[in-house]
Amino acid sequence: MERKLASVQRVLALRPIENADAIELAQINGWQCVVKKGEFAVGALGVFFEIDAIPPELPQLAFLWTSRNATEPQPRPESFRIKTMRLRGTLSQGLLMPLAQFVLPENLSEGDDLTAFLSVGKWEPPVPSGMGDFRGPFPPLVRKTDEMRVQSVPCVLDELRGLPYVITLKCDGTSATYCIDPRTDEFHACGRNQSILEDANHYWNLAKKYEIEAALRKFPHLAVQGEICGPGIQTNRLGLKTLEFFVFNVYDQQQGKYLSHDDARAFLAEANLPAVTVLEEGEAFAHTQDSLLALAEGKYDGTQNEREGIVIRPKSERNSLLLAGRLSFKVISNRFLLKEGE
Ligand code: ATP
Ligand code: MN
Repeated sequence: MERKLASVQRVLALRPIENADAIELAQINGWQCVVKKGEFAVGALGVFFEIDAIPPELPQLAFLWTSRNATEPQPRPESFRIKTMRLRGTLSQGLLMPLAQFVLPENLSEGDDLTAFLSVGKWEPPVPSGMGDFRGPFPPLVRKTDEMRVQSVPCVLDELRGLPYVITLKCDGTSATYCIDPRTDEFHACGRNQSILEDANHYWNLAKKYEIEAALRKFPHLAVQGEICGPGIQTNRLGLKTLEFFVFNVYDQQQGKYLSHDDARAFLAEANLPAVTVLEEGEAFAHTQDSLLALAEGKYDGTQNEREGIVIRPKSERNSLLLAGRLSFKVISNRFLLKEGE
C-alpha cells in the first residue's frame, strides 16, 4: 500500500485544547491534528495532508509559508513540508482543510487519494553519497521494502490483535536487498528501488564484509533484506564505527513468501548474518496505538540520539486485507519526529 499524502478523510472526533480558544484537536484515522475551532463538525470530510507532504502552491495554502506580517502571499520555500509540530503544547500532525477550499472531482468519498490530483510532493531525507550506480531494475521476484504508519491504517491493530507478534527496533539507515536472480544465477546487491553496480559503495562493501553471496549460494532461492547503518548513512543515529547490517526480512523467491520470524532467525544464525533487535515478543498482541507510541520512544543504545521507531508484525506471516499485502507496520517515535523537524 502506498502512502496517501493528501486524501479525503473524516473527522472522527474533536477535542478542546487547554488554554486555547481559537483552535481544537481533530482526529483523522489515528492522527491528531490542530484545526481552527468551529471549522469542522464531527463526521465532516476534509482534505488531509499527512506529515512529509509538500503541498501545492495554491493561494488557499500560502498561509502555511507566508510570514504573519507579510502584506501578500509569499512563494513556497524549497524546503517546505508538513511537519510534526507542537502547538500550545499539543502534538499536531498533518493539515486538515475544508473540501470546499479546493476544486475537486465530484462524488468523493472517505479515503480517496488526492495526492496526484493536487500535485502533492513528498519530502525525502537527503540522499547520502556512496550509494553506487544503477545496474538494473529491482529483482522481479523479490518485493521492495516498505512499512505503513499505524496512524494512517489504525485497523491493522485489530488485524493483529490476539496473535503471536514481534516488535523490532527500526534502524535508521538505508534499505538493502541481496539475492541471486534465478534467471541468470547472478548475485545482486540492491538499494530501495534498483540493483547496484559492483564497486566500492555501501551495498557492495557490506556484501563483502558479511560474505552474503557465499551465504546465499547455499540457499539460492532466499533473499535477505535489511538496513545498512553506519558512518556516512543518514546521520548515523545508531552511532556505529563501521558499516553494519540489520536484517528484517528473509524472502523465499521460489514460494513467493517471507519466512516466519522463527524460520528467518534460524536461517540468519546459520548464515552468520545479524538480525534487527527484538524489543518485545508475545503470544497475544494487545497493544494500542498509544502503548506502541510509548514503546517507540527511546534512544539508540549507547547514544543520545532518539530512535526512529519500531516495526510490528505477526510471528507467522499473514496477509492484511487493509494493507493489501503482508501484515506489518511501523510506529515512528514522535520525539524523533519533533527533533527531525527542528
Ligand atoms: P514513508 O513511506 O513513511 O514516507 P519510507 O517509505 O521512506 O517512509 P521508512 O520510514 O524508511 O520508509 O520505513 C520503512 C523502511 O524501514 C523499510 O523499507 C526498511 O528499510 C526500514 N527498516 C528499518 N528497520 C526496520 C525493521 N526493524 N523492520 C522493517 N523495516 C525496517
Ligand atoms: Mn513508504
